[in-house]
Amino acid sequence: MSEHPDDETDSDPFPPPNGEIDDTPIVSCTTCGREWDVSYELDELGVGNQALEQFALDHKRHTGHYPDDVTTWRADCLRCPEEVERLSGDAARRWARTHARHTRHAVEIRHSTDGEPTVVEPEDQ
Ligand SMILES: [Zn+2]
Ligand SMILES: [Zn+2]
Repeated sequence: MSEHPDDETDSDPFPPPNGEIDDTPIVSCTTCGREWDVSYELDELGVGNQALEQFALDHKRHTGHYPDDVTTWRADCLRCPEEVERLSGDAARRWARTHARHTRHAVEIRHSTDGEPTVVEPEDQ
């Protein structure tokens, strides 16, 4: 994986996520009032941001909310109940493109802190 998962060359209407978290192995959550040292995940898994992403997803799964400084992208199919939430806009767009290609459904992508949705249309061919 590249170090710049959001480094896309096509026109990207989305701003880069605020609060880069790849420099610090500390994840905090004001909702829980706790901090976690995720250097274990970083060392053990050796996957950089994906370790933090995994931690954030696990936190959401177990507590119902994300840790601080975590923003997510939601891809919502406009035609069926399929939807996913991803920490990277790249991953959300990839899911949307794949879903659109296979189902010919249009998928709406929205960033949690930026209300402007974009729609991925199925390719017309
Ligand atoms: Zn929490
Ligand atoms: Zn669909």
